[in-house]
Amino acid sequence: MTRKLVWVEQQRFRGWGCAECAWVFNPSGAPTGKSLDEAKRNFELQRDKEFTLHVCADQPRAKNEGTKHEVKQDWEKLYRAAIIEPDRSKVLQRVEVAEGAILERSRSLSSSPANSGKEQEAITRALHILSLLRAKAGD
Ligand SMILES: [Zn+2]
Repeated sequence: MTRKLVWVEQQRFRGWGCAECAWVFNPSGAPTGKSLDEAKRNFELQRDKEFTLHVCADQPRAKNEGTKHEVKQDWEKLYRAAIIEPDRSKVLQRVEVAEGAILERSRSLSSSPANSGKEQEAITRALHILSLLRAKAGD
């Protein structure tokens, strides 16, 4: 496996990171050196050394935007399934499953509030609709 050192630009981090995992180069303290060139060289040496030493498998898989997306689609899929369920006897069960997925998603969103406002809104709406469905199913 060839891994690459890549420039990472995120809301909370700008700098060098690994293309394969969540590793980022986080130098402790400012680069040292008598001149800018030397500081830059030291910085790059330290970066390359730490990059070479890190083990991808040990890093949290934080870069998986794809997974985040899947989770999101997951609750939306379950939510839709509850709404379109034609069998009234199954609606309640579908509602419960969807609510569970939504609450779980909501929890993970609240731990990372960045750019989750829109989805949080959708979740609030979905929970409202599900509560209506639940009331109707209980008739
Ligand atoms: Zn890595």
